[in-house]
Amino acid sequence: MLQDVLLTDEEEGIKEEVRAFVKKDVPADLLKKMDRDEVTYPREFVESLGKRNLLGLRFSKAYGGRGLHWTAEIAALEEIGVLGMALGCAFSMPSIVGEALHTFGSEDLKDRFLRPMLRGELVSAEALTEPRGGSDFFGATTTAKREGDHFVVKGQKRFVVAASGADFFVVYCKTDPEGKPHQRISLILIEAEREGVEAKHLYNLLGTRGGGTGRLLFKDVKVPVSNLIGGLNEGALIFNAMMVPERLTSAGGSLGLARAALEVATRYTNRRYAFGRKIRDYQAVSFKVADSITMLDAARAITHAAGRAADLGLPTARRLVSEAKKFATDMCWEVSNQAMRMVGGIGYTNVFPIEKMVRDARLSQIWTGTNEIMSLLIQHEYYKEVLNDPNPPRMSEADAEEAHLEDEKVYEDDEMWTKGW
Ligand SMILES: Cc1cc2nc3c(=O)[nH]c(=O)nc-3n(C[C@H](O)[C@H](O)[C@H](O)COP(=O)(O)OP(=O)(O)OC[C@H]3O[C@@H](n4cnc5c(N)ncnc54)[C@H](O)[C@@H]3O)c2cc1C
Repeated sequence: MLQDVLLTDEEEGIKEEVRAFVKKDVPADLLKKMDRDEVTYPREFVESLGKRNLLGLRFSKAYGGRGLHWTAEIAALEEIGVLGMALGCAFSMPSIVGEALHTFGSEDLKDRFLRPMLRGELVSAEALTEPRGGSDFFGATTTAKREGDHFVVKGQKRFVVAASGADFFVVYCKTDPEGKPHQRISLILIEAEREGVEAKHLYNLLGTRGGGTGRLLFKDVKVPVSNLIGGLNEGALIFNAMMVPERLTSAGGSLGLARAALEVATRYTNRRYAFGRKIRDYQAVSFKVADSITMLDAARAITHAAGRAADLGLPTARRLVSEAKKFATDMCWEVSNQAMRMVGGIGYTNVFPIEKMVRDARLSQIWTGTNEIMSLLIQHEYYKEVLNDPNPPRMSEADAEEAHLEDEKVYEDDEMWTKGW
């Protein structure tokens, strides 16, 4: 398996620990009830992860984590991803919200929220997206006005997982109405029980159900200034830090979901007969397995590389994390669809879990920044890298046979032709 070359012994240990938990301690009934929307939020699942010290694996032991690297968390995420996007998200949220609290939060906030969250005693949620748009994050219109020793928060957020179910939200608010987009946002922690906080509408989703995804209203909510995470108007810094776990958890979870779908199809095609032969004997079927496992391995490699770049704080981390999110989630969509094709008609029913996996997979391409936004980031970073490389490699342009024909290298309007000699 590709993981054999990617993981250290310690990371292999985490993988096995999480695999055992996923195999033995998560009842199939929970997954089914969530998909039927009979569960609002899987709190018990979070509690059992907390009891096993499996939440926020990267954070220091002092705050309740395990002090591990991203590569370990990705190995764990692949195992959790088998359970689907909603439980994957419940596992990931402490990693995403925890990034803000662990890196930027005051000791008081760490004490009251980070530690209990990592013990699985408090459920968190992140509120970034607004009805007016998620991609244009810095256009946020939810406001927090300072009045003495507290803020008054007004606005709404949309598509918040655990809008119903969370004990607290981290909410990006505009704190300087006159400031430039990157200098006017702050991150404020708001307890769900505060007066004026309301979970308004729980969405009927295509997949990823049972996570309490809804719209949040903040109606003049009074929040003490001590609930500010990081500095005033420094939300952009926190947002950029949070986008690493946001996107790596999407990528890591997608590895597991795709793997599960492919394994179901692989076992099925080894048993199912058509025209007197096992269908795996038809290359139209078995080559789908070949293509799928190749894509899955490629996604694993890029996700682990991105995790390593994030661990090392490399300048290329931003690009690699975006690439991993885009590539792994597109792979998950493609592989789960290929699995459905291999299993045929019964794959479109709920006799097999593939139809649910396909429904779940589709979301991974949308949330935590759409894959179009990932392309935006990837090209932006790559242009910067190539055009500003202080030690560029060999410039291949000079290797062309007629590279000396400079007159042929026209990059913009040729004034001689448009304006005449
Ligand atoms: C089930 C679910 C759970 C979610 N969970 C959370 C959560 O817990 N917390 C949270 O804050 N948010 C959450 N989201 C929100 C999610 O991150 C957003 O839906 C996503 O970022 C896209 O924002 P939008 O839906 O407003 O689409 P828009 O931003 O309106 O985009 C619409 C389309 O335009 C494209 N587009 C926009 N701008 C550009 C551009 N500059 N270049 C190219 N294409 C562009 C987008 O790619 C997309 O295809 C969740 C969403 C869903 C559906």
